[in-house]
Amino acid sequence: MRGHRNAHKQPNARKHRRAREQRSPCKHRRARNRPNARKHRTAPKHRRARKHRDAPKHRRARAAILVPMTTVDHLRQVRLGNLRTVLLALVDKPGSRADLAARTGLTKATLSNLTEPLLANGVLVEEPATLTGVGRPSKPLRFHPAGPVAIGVEVNVEHLAVEVLGLDGDTVHRHRVHADNRRATANEVLGRVVGLVEQFTGDRAVLGVGLAVPGVVHDGTVVRAPNLPNLVGEDLAAQLSSRLGREVELDNEANLAALAHLWPKHLAGEDFVHVTADVGIGAGVVLAGEVYRGVSGFAGELGHVVIERDGVECTCGSRGCVERYAGLDVMLRDAGRTHLDDLAEALRTDERARTAVREAGRALGVGLATLMNLFDVPTVVLGGSYAVLHEHLSVAIRSEMDIRVLAGGERHTRLIASPLGEFAVVRGAAGLVTRRTVQQPERLYA
Ligand SMILES: [Zn+2]
Repeated sequence: MRGHRNAHKQPNARKHRRAREQRSPCKHRRARNRPNARKHRTAPKHRRARKHRDAPKHRRARAAILVPMTTVDHLRQVRLGNLRTVLLALVDKPGSRADLAARTGLTKATLSNLTEPLLANGVLVEEPATLTGVGRPSKPLRFHPAGPVAIGVEVNVEHLAVEVLGLDGDTVHRHRVHADNRRATANEVLGRVVGLVEQFTGDRAVLGVGLAVPGVVHDGTVVRAPNLPNLVGEDLAAQLSSRLGREVELDNEANLAALAHLWPKHLAGEDFVHVTADVGIGAGVVLAGEVYRGVSGFAGELGHVVIERDGVECTCGSRGCVERYAGLDVMLRDAGRTHLDDLAEALRTDERARTAVREAGRALGVGLATLMNLFDVPTVVLGGSYAVLHEHLSVAIRSEMDIRVLAGGERHTRLIASPLGEFAVVRGAAGLVTRRTVQQPERLYA
């Protein structure tokens, strides 16, 4: 099972993450169960207010931590932890109760106890019995093909995409439409998104919506979006949530493309950089099985890593940024082509096109080497248009990385083309929701 394999590989990272996950949901409950909670409730309002204002922050925090977890809390956490383990095993592949018991280390009785409610509410389904050699025929459990789904939506400069994703990672629907969003207002863009979501949801139970935008986002709000400036400052998650009446989570497209390679299947291990080029360059950094977003969402801005101090001016106000040398628009311009397909075709015969892609690859290699030296990750995934040009780009990228990556002497950085094509971002947006549901299985009972 994936969880167990990871536990061997990343013992500390996983342990800490698990501890964090288990600690956080019960913090409020513990606060509610404080012995003097009643006293606080009955005290006059002004006194309560003053007391809280005057108490130093660290003392208030410590008081909450010292209160022991009740037995009921503890049992609930154990049950949710076990349920998470079972769901992760089922994301890996379906299995009979005996098979799941063997893969998770839980008893068959515990397994039945955990899965019964999910069979009853249509999240799981028991398949017809199959004979597997001697003994009783086994009845595999799997996620119900008509069970709840997550919706992923991608807003981009010239298109919108939607993906309806089951908990098992199977795509129920996916669709991409042309839309000129560059000059559209947030209101217009959201109107288009709502239409698309309603068109593809049908009467399925929906777990939530993941929304991807080509920009930096923080707390559900777009902070920076050079190619969709009308969205800057808009709290898109809250606005779409109120229009759809569903929970919406907003994230940056590069982060979500990276997530699509991590969940529900590991396509590039647990530590990698996913890089793609559209109008700009987007990179998602995955460390120890988590997308690294930074404090305010700006992590992984590979496109604005400087590779030439006094180089070409960039839209960000700096000079010599990677995207001024390795962006798709630069490659197309230097190759004298207008579209990616046209450029890919020209690479068969046209030396000018080959030179343009090779030079872009070298610039990208210099930028990636910096990232490798900072994060020491073993794999680079070339996505989007870079995946299409992979064959011609990778030689040039590697030539720069081989001489610049310090760990290169120890091991070769793996350079692979993404298998997800143009739907990586929207798949990651939907995956954001299915992953959160599996990590917080109490959502399945909401
Ligand atoms: Zn820049």
